[in-house]
Amino acid sequence: MTVPNIILNNGVTMPALGFGVFQTPPDETRIAVAEALKVGYRHIDTAAAYGNERGVGDALKASGLARSDVFIQTKIWINDYGYDETLHSFTKSAGKLGVEQIDLLILHQPLPSAFERTLGAYRALETLLADGKVRAIGVSNFMPEHLERLLREIKVVPAVNQIEVHPYFQQPELQTLHAKHGILTQAWAPIGGITFYRPGFSKSTLEDPVILDIARAHGKSAAQVMLRWGIQEGRSVIPKSVKADRIAENFDVFDFELTQDQLAAIDALNTNERGGPVPDRITLDTFSREIPEA
Ligand code: NDP
Repeated sequence: MTVPNIILNNGVTMPALGFGVFQTPPDETRIAVAEALKVGYRHIDTAAAYGNERGVGDALKASGLARSDVFIQTKIWINDYGYDETLHSFTKSAGKLGVEQIDLLILHQPLPSAFERTLGAYRALETLLADGKVRAIGVSNFMPEHLERLLREIKVVPAVNQIEVHPYFQQPELQTLHAKHGILTQAWAPIGGITFYRPGFSKSTLEDPVILDIARAHGKSAAQVMLRWGIQEGRSVIPKSVKADRIAENFDVFDFELTQDQLAAIDALNTNERGGPVPDRITLDTFSREIPEA
């Protein structure tokens, strides 16, 4: 199975389908990532704040794959924002991942209460890019106002903004802004991120009747239809699973195609209701997390 590549705005290529490890416990990460690499994934998304970069690195090393065959991306956490802190945070992440160079390094969140530190962190990414320590740089969870401010103050346009996108929360205006600036929309929780929902919030994209109808028509699962929807609309998708059968299922999305009507039917499911936290409310007081040394 060949995963199509996406060409980022600086010419670097990245497999459109990646493998996520948010909420994968550190001691299970090596096994999950090893399984993903065995199935054929060649793009892994982790983060300093997930506490499992070492598991990703161990699986990469044990796989015997050439370093250049696997696209590794990770994220700087807000405690490490500021120019010098972010330069050092790269060293921590690269050390845990066991790599010299990171393919895509992104800021995990804007820190609106300390935007100067966010800008300092981004400038450190620009330095790491210029020094060849990373191949591409980007952001995550930036809302339009954060992105517009960033774009006014920095030199290198982010290659990606990794944001919550699934059928129930699509952020069309933000995606349009990305397209205008050549920024790739990378969808987190691409199949609905069901573990992220608030207690009592029972809606699951995996049980949506419109998606299930389309899935039946193709002999595929709801998860596969959502991943196909994301890829066909030009997004990068990074589903997470710790289960071997689902890891394989989520990779098996390249032998069918949704029609324009089916894509439109899924577009129409948008509720504008966010599953994850409102990025604007992330502060160091509420989301502080020290990132250990490598
Ligand atoms: P996903 O949309 O990938 O959904 C993951 C959930 O769905 C897990 O509970 C998983 O359980 C389950 N699942 C996986 N495959 C299937 C399937 N085929 N059928 C039914 N259930 C399935 O959500 P995530 O929140 O994990 O997002 C994906 C990735 O995006 C993360 O792992 C992370 O890398 C990134 N992310 C980034 C964020 C950011 O702030 N930048 C925030 C959140 C995520 P199980 O493991 O038991 O199979």
